[in-house]
Amino acid sequence: MPVLVMKFGGTSVATLDRIRRAAKRVGVEVSKGYDVIVIVSAMSGETNKLVGYVEETSPLFDAREYDAVVASGENVTAGLMALTLQEMDVPARSWQGWQVPVKTTSAHSAARIEDIPTDNIRQKFGEGMKVAVVAGFQGISPEGRITTLGRGGSDTTAVAFAAAFGAERCDIYTDVDGVYTTDPRICEKARKLDRIAFEEMLELASLGAKVLQTRSVELAMRYKVRLRVVSSFEEQSDDAGTLVCAEEDIMESNVVAGVAYSRDEAKMTLVSVADRPGIAAAIFMPLSEAGVNVDMIVQNISEEGRTDMTFSCPTNQVQRAEKALAEAKTRGDINFHDLVADTAVAKISVVGIGMRSHTGVAAKMFKVLSDEGINIKVITTSEIKISVLIDRKYMELAVQALHDAFELEKTG
Ligand code: ADP
Ligand code: ASP
Ligand code: MG
Repeated sequence: MPVLVMKFGGTSVATLDRIRRAAKRVGVEVSKGYDVIVIVSAMSGETNKLVGYVEETSPLFDAREYDAVVASGENVTAGLMALTLQEMDVPARSWQGWQVPVKTTSAHSAARIEDIPTDNIRQKFGEGMKVAVVAGFQGISPEGRITTLGRGGSDTTAVAFAAAFGAERCDIYTDVDGVYTTDPRICEKARKLDRIAFEEMLELASLGAKVLQTRSVELAMRYKVRLRVVSSFEEQSDDAGTLVCAEEDIMESNVVAGVAYSRDEAKMTLVSVADRPGIAAAIFMPLSEAGVNVDMIVQNISEEGRTDMTFSCPTNQVQRAEKALAEAKTRGDINFHDLVADTAVAKISVVGIGMRSHTGVAAKMFKVLSDEGINIKVITTSEIKISVLIDRKYMELAVQALHDAFELEKTG
């Protein structure tokens, strides 16, 4: 039997009624002759609630216990989905990550899937089971502890299962009907894309478009998984939604494919550090050891042997960063005058493979922002994207203005 992977995100399983609706969609695919692997997220809001419990209990928590707590949301939906399918006379059972087992690294709260043995589930399919419901987002470490794959990780579970089982397709059911030129929730002119290239989706995801977790796109690209994003609220034909595919499979495209934003950014500046060989290593090694994900970095020109060093990191890592840098200063490894954290910034990025061959995108982006009176604090570029940090209060305005200026509501 051909295998299909169907993943339902938090809003798609938010209530028993929605689980029933999702189960009906699964039933449709079973009736077409597929063996289906259903990957479920926790009910909408559940994971945030569980993270809140952990942070309130222990601010600098043990990540192994964090994982034990936050993985539990998916267990509930996996069982409920299996029960709902059974009520519909569809032979189904649930699996938690460790039961498969989804083998991961031991990087708790950000683990990577290393292996998914398929024999266990295949045997059940052989015995007449039609649907394997698997709790997304979770796995088991070599030490036998429960791990999680980072926020949004059920997408990655889904793609990894599709790769392991050689699935015909991996359908990601969510609360929008595909991948848009930007988040349709903050820009009403956002246009749904029928297709998007892996490289562009990878950039958009890693720059904040949470419709797919970055790692899921990476895996789909590597294992050539046919990855589709579809709405769980509308009736679906087989070509609905957005197909994430190879660049060669896209006929026409704009220079800029989309605009992404990330609200969860902080800008930190070390004021007046001694500018000497090794200073960057002395600053960023302790940050890395403390688990701070540094993103953008800018070093200013130095005056009289001293310089300012600015970097960005997720807002919830500011405390860790401050602690690590204060300790490095106490040890005498670095010497700075002040450490200033600005936690009210956002990152806005434009992405498009067309930028490889078109010049002027950066200049246009800067002009658009300047016309709106928005000050740019930090800039970074790569081959197919340009990112800027701005005041968070201008985030939506910036996304809308860039979407207009690059005419993303029109097809290229
Ligand atoms: P799920 O719970 O189904 O995993 P998520 O909330 O993780 O859903 O992802 C879907 C959300 O991603 C949408 O509701 C939308 O607000 C957001 N989003 C951000 N950027 C985009 C984009 N370019 N295209 C579509 N959705 C986007
Ligand atoms: N429930 C997890 C989260 O909210 C994983 C997921 O939904 O993909 O991050
Ligand atoms: Mg998600």
